[in-house]
Amino acid sequence: MENQEKKENSSSVRQSEREQSRRAEMSRRRRKRQLMRRVTFVVSGILFVAAVGSIIWNVAVKKDTPAFVNQGEENITVPRPDIDVQLLTVNPNSRPGIATDRIRGIVVHYTANPGSTAQQNRDYFESLKDSQETSVSSNFVIGLEGEIIQCVPTAEMAYASNNRNSDTVSIECCHPDESGKFTDATYKSLVQLVAWLSQKFGLDTDDIIRHYDVTGKDCPKYFVENVEAWEQFKKDVADYIAKYD
Ligand SMILES: [Zn+2]
Repeated sequence: MENQEKKENSSSVRQSEREQSRRAEMSRRRRKRQLMRRVTFVVSGILFVAAVGSIIWNVAVKKDTPAFVNQGEENITVPRPDIDVQLLTVNPNSRPGIATDRIRGIVVHYTANPGSTAQQNRDYFESLKDSQETSVSSNFVIGLEGEIIQCVPTAEMAYASNNRNSDTVSIECCHPDESGKFTDATYKSLVQLVAWLSQKFGLDTDDIIRHYDVTGKDCPKYFVENVEAWEQFKKDVADYIAKYD
């Protein structure tokens, strides 16, 4: 009898121990769940604040003051040349709508299409959105009469200068014949546009390059074949800027 009672006692002790440990386990799980809920709440709070902050930053701050768009802009002393802005439709073949990096150079080209006008070259770039025959364009085209047409904003990439498309501004120049030599009017506008862009982007003479300096291509032909004319051009740009200092 005594034995039996002992057994029952010890069995009920074991039972209550099991009960206690079961409760302890449940309360541990409950605490764990509460902790997880708090962590989740805090983390989502942080993510929410970060997302809202980033939207505000992009819309209100960054959009209006991208450092690379306004780089050097406050120091412009040369007059802005007349620019006929005829932006291309955004399309994969001539205006991909991709933002440029900080502008570190200006690349001069020739159209390699004697006698063609700035308007024809601009319209050709535009036509590529339908024909899709190739991918080519330029930020600016300067015509035989010195007219300047802008096709792609300088904050966006044009397809002219190969691996320098993303950090340069491109200028295509029209020319009357196979020599690739520019008319006086084209040359004058090129000097004025390059001078103005140099100041706009805080660049110096070494940042003015030929397509040839990027890929070795014979472009702009006359300035590749007549190095002294190219050096003179850069000097003319520097002199033009100095006039307005
Ligand atoms: Zn070129």
